[in-house]
Amino acid sequence: MMRKKEVKTFYIRTYGCQMNELDSEIMVGQLEKKGLKRVYDEKKGDLLIFNTCSIRDLAERKVMGKIGQLSRVQKERPIIGVTGCMSMAKKDSLFRKLPHIDFVIGTNNITDLSSVVDEVIETGEKRIKTEDIFEENLDYLIAKRDDRVKAYVSIIRGCDKFCTYCVVPYTRGKEVSRPLEEIEKECRRLSDQGYKEITLLGQNVNSYGKDHPEWNLLFHDLLYRLDKINGLERIRFMTSHPIDITLFLMQAIRDLPSLCEFVHFPIQSGSNRILRKMHRIYTKEDYLKKVSLLKEHVPKVSLGTDMIVGFPTETDEDFEETCNVFKEVRYSTAFLYTFSPRKGTPAMRFRDDIPNEVKEERLHHLMKIYHEICKEERQEMLGKEVEVLVDKWNKDGQQLQGRTRCWKKVIFKGGEQEIGTLQKIKIHSFNHQTLIGNMLNNT
Ligand code: SF4
Repeated sequence: MMRKKEVKTFYIRTYGCQMNELDSEIMVGQLEKKGLKRVYDEKKGDLLIFNTCSIRDLAERKVMGKIGQLSRVQKERPIIGVTGCMSMAKKDSLFRKLPHIDFVIGTNNITDLSSVVDEVIETGEKRIKTEDIFEENLDYLIAKRDDRVKAYVSIIRGCDKFCTYCVVPYTRGKEVSRPLEEIEKECRRLSDQGYKEITLLGQNVNSYGKDHPEWNLLFHDLLYRLDKINGLERIRFMTSHPIDITLFLMQAIRDLPSLCEFVHFPIQSGSNRILRKMHRIYTKEDYLKKVSLLKEHVPKVSLGTDMIVGFPTETDEDFEETCNVFKEVRYSTAFLYTFSPRKGTPAMRFRDDIPNEVKEERLHHLMKIYHEICKEERQEMLGKEVEVLVDKWNKDGQQLQGRTRCWKKVIFKGGEQEIGTLQKIKIHSFNHQTLIGNMLNNT
C-alpha cells in the first residue's frame, strides 16, 4: 500500500488523562503552525496521531486495535504516529507489533513532532524519539485549545513516587517543575483570552517545587500567586498524592477565593497491608486523619478518589476495609478499577492471584456503594442554589451545562450569552450523573 507523500491535514486522537489532553493541544498548535489543517474524521487525515495511555491494559488494547484496523481500511496510506505513554513503555517494539506505523514519539519529545513528521515525509523511513529526560523548553503557549472557558496548565511533569502498580514514573520520568514565571505568564495570557477556569496539572501537583529547593516555592505558594491573577474565577488542580497534602494546602483551599473546594485525594485501597504492597507510603489512619483535618478547614469540601480492587493477595477483609473507607469519606467522584499488571512495574512480579470474576464482583460492589452515595448527595441538593461556571451546550443541544465549584455537573435552560459566565442555578431534579436546575438572575 502506498504511503501519502503530501501532508495537508491531520487527525489526532487522545486517550487517557488530562496530561495527555494538554499534550495533544500542544501538538495541535505545533501542526497548525506548520500550516496543516486539523480534521475530525480519521479517514480525511493525511497524518494520523494517536496520543496513547498505558495506565491500564484495556487502554493499550483499545489503541492497538484501533491502529490495527486502520491498516485494513485505508487505500492510500496516511502517515501514522504513536505518541504518549505507550510510546515510552513499548518504544521500538511498537514497530514490530504495528508494522504500518511511521513514527513513535515519547512523552518527553513532543517538541520534536514537527521535525519528525518532516523527516518521515522526506525519507519515507521510520523514526523514533523516546528520551528519558524531559525537554524543558517545551512551548506550552502554542497549545490550541478546543474549550473556550476552561484550560489545563501544566505545572509539573513526571513522578518520583514509584507506586508498585504504576507505569507513570517509567513513561513520564522524574518530577520536573515548571518555573513560576512561565506558569504565571501562561495563566495571565489565558485570563486575557477570556478563560475563566484553569486546572493545574501534574501527576503529583503537590510535589511542585521540591525538585528545586533553591526556588523556595512550594505548591501552596504557587496557588497564592495564581489567585492574584485578575479574571481567573476558578483554579483547580489534578492530581495529588495524599502524602503531600499539607496543612498549608488546606489553608489555601480555605482562604483563596479562586481555589475550588474539590480535592482529588486518591487512597487506592483501605487496607494497610495492600497500601504497603502498593508502596503508597501512608497508612489508612494517616489518610483519614488528613481527610478530617481537611474537612475541619473546609467543611464544604468534596473529595475524589481512585481505587484499585483485586490487587494481588487482596482478601475479602482487605476489600471490606476499602468499602468502609469509601462509606466513611463519602467521595463524590471516584475512578474505580480492577487491577491489571503493567509491564515494567514491580507489581508485574506479584502473582496476579485474584480471579477475574472476584475482581469484577468487588468492582461491582464498590460501584454500588459509590452510586448510592452519589444519589444521596444529589437528593440533598434538591431545592438548593449553586454557583455554576457555564461551559458549553449540553450534548442534547437544548440546554447549557456547567460545573459547580465542587465539580458537580449541572444542566439548565439558557442561551449562548451565558457561556463563560457564572450563574446561580436552583436545582429541581437530577439523573444518574447530572443535576438539573433553573437559572436564577445573572450573578
Ligand atoms: S503517585 Fe500516582 S503517578 Fe506517581 S507512581 Fe503513584 S500512582 Fe503513579
